[in-house]
Amino acid sequence: MSFTLHGLAVSNGIAIGHAHLVSHATLEVEHYVLPNRFIDEEVARLEQAVVEVQAELDALMAGTEASVPSELTAFIDLHRMLLADPLLIEATRQLIRERRCNAEWALVQQLEQVVEQFEKIEDEYLRERKADIVQVVERLLKVLMGHPGRPPKHARGEQIIVVAHDLSPADTLQFKQMKIGGFVTDLGGATSHTSIVARSLAIPAVVGLHHARNLIREDDMLIVDGTRGVLIVDPDAQVLEEYRLRRSALELERSKLKRLKKSRATTLDGLDIELAANIELPGDIAQVRAVDAAGIGLFRTEFLFLNRDGVPGEEEQFEAYRSVAEAMDGRPVVIRTLDLGADKNLRGVERTEANPALGRRAIRFCLAEPQLFLTQLRALLRASHYGRVKMLVPMLSHAHEIMQTLALVAQAKEQLRCSGHPFDECTEVGGMIEIPAAALALGVFLEKLDFLSIGTNDLIQYTLAIDRTDEAVAHLYDPLHPAVLRLIAHTIQAGARADLPVGVCGEMAGDPALTRLLLGMGLRQFSMHPAQILEVKQEVLRSNLTDLKRKVARLLATDDPVKLRQQLERLNAVETMPLKHAQAPGAGTGAN
Ligand code: PEP
Ligand code: MG
Repeated sequence: MSFTLHGLAVSNGIAIGHAHLVSHATLEVEHYVLPNRFIDEEVARLEQAVVEVQAELDALMAGTEASVPSELTAFIDLHRMLLADPLLIEATRQLIRERRCNAEWALVQQLEQVVEQFEKIEDEYLRERKADIVQVVERLLKVLMGHPGRPPKHARGEQIIVVAHDLSPADTLQFKQMKIGGFVTDLGGATSHTSIVARSLAIPAVVGLHHARNLIREDDMLIVDGTRGVLIVDPDAQVLEEYRLRRSALELERSKLKRLKKSRATTLDGLDIELAANIELPGDIAQVRAVDAAGIGLFRTEFLFLNRDGVPGEEEQFEAYRSVAEAMDGRPVVIRTLDLGADKNLRGVERTEANPALGRRAIRFCLAEPQLFLTQLRALLRASHYGRVKMLVPMLSHAHEIMQTLALVAQAKEQLRCSGHPFDECTEVGGMIEIPAAALALGVFLEKLDFLSIGTNDLIQYTLAIDRTDEAVAHLYDPLHPAVLRLIAHTIQAGARADLPVGVCGEMAGDPALTRLLLGMGLRQFSMHPAQILEVKQEVLRSNLTDLKRKVARLLATDDPVKLRQQLERLNAVETMPLKHAQAPGAGTGAN
């Protein structure tokens, strides 16, 4: 039976394919009864999984360097102890024998019992340790069930649509190596890192669907409309045909945009605009070159630290940063220092804080782990010898954080001088403006840093006090809230007055509906996922700055959300010159 679900549109496009259900955080497992003759085999399967997870944890511990945060090693130790605890494994073994059930199901039953006991504990610290038991059980389940992101064997050459209750950014990252047509999840917000990775992969995605994982069966035919936030399950022939046509039309539009690749991003009145790319991994460079981006405006280095045991050392990081610097061939490469925490965590350090987005995230985490930070700073500085590398520090809000960071940069430079590694002494250090406090008290930022980059994703989250990963408050996540717009405009204008470059690298920079608004605020440096660059360039080519500034100033004075949206519509509807009269293809500065 055909039915439709509505969620949040997070990554444009249409995907048509078969459902592949994956399990993750909710520990959804199948239950089946086994014939007696298979019981010993099932117990052996559980024991083998324990051995494999034990080996995983041992390797993780052996691979940790001195620079690894002490809490990571403590977590690994705790997980090793839990894995050896008879309360978990012995009891699961008994359940398999008594109920003649599969190991996964027995494990989850036992987990529920243990969690219930933990919830009764009065000591808060011990009570919170239930999260560690869940993680150990998740590791065992992954071994027993195979990895959550693994596509089914029966793919028949058709597209696979991943259906999950929730996906972490680390899970989504693995889709880069797989051929996934699209994905849908019950949970998630539009600017969660999971959604950002989906956009960087240019695969259609809808999140916040609430019950999709329960309503959809493996192999169901699905249409994912990532532009409208719609999921159609088991569509009839007519709907299917209609969507196939729409998909072809979209593909045609995309291929037409390709002719803008070599055009300079210049407004109708002749101002050059920098359109740079956001990347997560060095492997993304191919996509960046395909659209001839002006540089890398944001390299989210924490993705190098996900989906692996242990953290990458200085040499490994250096090679990653150097490869990107060299590939960009003299164009600027902004490497952001680690933004771990909130929804991006090292394996084995799942956070248990009540408010992870407000906790020890990004620069706060790095300053608490100076050895780990220094390792990254040295790797990053060494890469500056091979290209135009700049470093960008996330989530700054206090003057003392800036001062401490600059002191550590100076220390890393001194270490490199002593070890004889070459680096660019003048490597620029920039700060992200993503906390309202930073935008409102820019003085130290303007004085001490070389450039600023506005992270609108977090600036919106922290200004409006809504978790960007939580679909329950997604309707309140509003880039057009007057407070957000004023903070952005104020930062851009304060930077211009102080002659300090200011860019935007949050998702707003990649939304063509906001290009003119940002241009009118005075923005000249945009950074976005590469898949958006040509569409934004098209808007730049059609824009005339002369009257944008005045109109945007009026829009910024509006508090009424309805009027504000009407003004934005009028701004975007301004008479445009047909593209063929704009910058001719081939006139670009690009050397690619
Ligand atoms: C932002 O917050 O806008 C940003 C670019 O950083 P991230 O999305 O990685 O938090
Ligand atoms: Mg951010």
